[in-house]
Amino acid sequence: MTAPVPSFSDLGLLPELLQAVAEKGYTEPSPIQAQAIPVILQGLDVMGGAQTGTGKTAGFTLPLLQRLAPHANTSASPARHPVRALILTPTRELAAQVEESVRGYGKHLGLRPAVVFGGVDIVPQIQALRAGVEILVATPGRLLDHVQQKTVMLGQVEILVLDEADRMLDMGFMPDIRRILALLPAKRQNLLFSATLSEEIKRLADNLLHQPVLIEVARRNAMTELVSHEVHPVRRERKRDLLAHLVRTQNLTQVLVFGGTRLGVNRLAYQLQRDGVHAAAIHGDKSQVERMQALADFKSGKTPVLVATDVAARGLDIQELPAVINFELPGAPEDYVHRIGRTGRAGSTGRAISLVCADEHEKLAAIEKFIKQRIPQIIIPGFEPDASGVSALMHTERDRPDRRPERGSSLTRGGARSHAGKAPAKPADAIFSAPYVPSSAVPAAAEPARTGSQKPGRQLAALLGGVRKSG
Ligand code: AMP
Repeated sequence: MTAPVPSFSDLGLLPELLQAVAEKGYTEPSPIQAQAIPVILQGLDVMGGAQTGTGKTAGFTLPLLQRLAPHANTSASPARHPVRALILTPTRELAAQVEESVRGYGKHLGLRPAVVFGGVDIVPQIQALRAGVEILVATPGRLLDHVQQKTVMLGQVEILVLDEADRMLDMGFMPDIRRILALLPAKRQNLLFSATLSEEIKRLADNLLHQPVLIEVARRNAMTELVSHEVHPVRRERKRDLLAHLVRTQNLTQVLVFGGTRLGVNRLAYQLQRDGVHAAAIHGDKSQVERMQALADFKSGKTPVLVATDVAARGLDIQELPAVINFELPGAPEDYVHRIGRTGRAGSTGRAISLVCADEHEKLAAIEKFIKQRIPQIIIPGFEPDASGVSALMHTERDRPDRRPERGSSLTRGGARSHAGKAPAKPADAIFSAPYVPSSAVPAAAEPARTGSQKPGRQLAALLGGVRKSG
């Protein structure tokens, strides 16, 4: 028997928080919220296996606010507003988003939040800290700058949150985190959230958490039927034109495009602009102000295409996208999963589109193996890969005359079929081992061919069980 889904009020939250939640329009708690909120309210440590998009921010923010609510006061004295909760995040964008959430969920409580991160003027941060702050969201480096300048005291922290801990380790923040931990009172509540639970994370958890409650929730949609995958075989030099074509013809009004290098990302955004497609680039060399502006324009719909590196895209609260496009396939298959975790909206399908040229077939094979799915290959008329491209992607079909396309036909050999959805070619044995799904069943995006082993639970276990980290 499955337990009924609790409502927010069943979770024992204060009326002020229930009001804020209702104002946000949330009707019921997400799984991580339903599990984490009661545990955190009890003051227990939590090890949370959850990624962005699961509602984890509210999952820790709501009970954190409730635990601090008795300290809310209107005194003008900074001494009456010491830092009682510290939330550490790996990226500036995530820090800004988390603080926004704290501010939103806590707006009827009277506690003071603030955020500090690098890349922006430190003076306004100092002023905010001097005035007194109960909930501080910070990236580790800038927080240590403040510690050094004695503009923040952490001796009264009651609750510590490490958000996206795996990324903090990936990004080399461990030494900084150790220094910060040494400044906190030993007796405190610790909450650690991580998308993956690797050995390294478990070691960190062992050192940091006291008899933690383990809460794991499945990725919201990364590997479920909410995301359809499609590969467009294409010549490398035609990728950019194909990207512009897809954006124009397939009504892609908000699409995150993953490029490879910072330089490549810049160039691609520039060239798209030149081709009349509104695009912006986001990567580590951009200033904080530029990155935030690009993100704001993307979210508001002003810029329909945001081209990003993997690192820059991390932690952005832009996961409910109709589509992501892999302009370059990622080097590590698990990065494909991270990337596509941003697509899919509640109840509707997201698209994970990959533009794949001949020399990327090994990466594609590794991705298909990792996600345990064959990805349908769809050739867009006018952007056909050259013969070597087709044969590299569909190498097993190379010498089979019965599978060769007719000249001028929109069909190609192997499992590829035209986007026009005419009579499908037979699937290539090696490329398509799963049943063929007619394009008429899914007009906008090809449905992934499923294999029997594609259980989300197993996928999660595979992901949580020691995935290689992406840098
Ligand atoms: P997070 O995983 O914390 O980054 O949250 C992902 C998105 O889900 C955010 O845009 C939240 O505003 C939204 N969200 C969080 N909790 C809920 C909920 N219970 N119902 C609907 N949306 C939610």
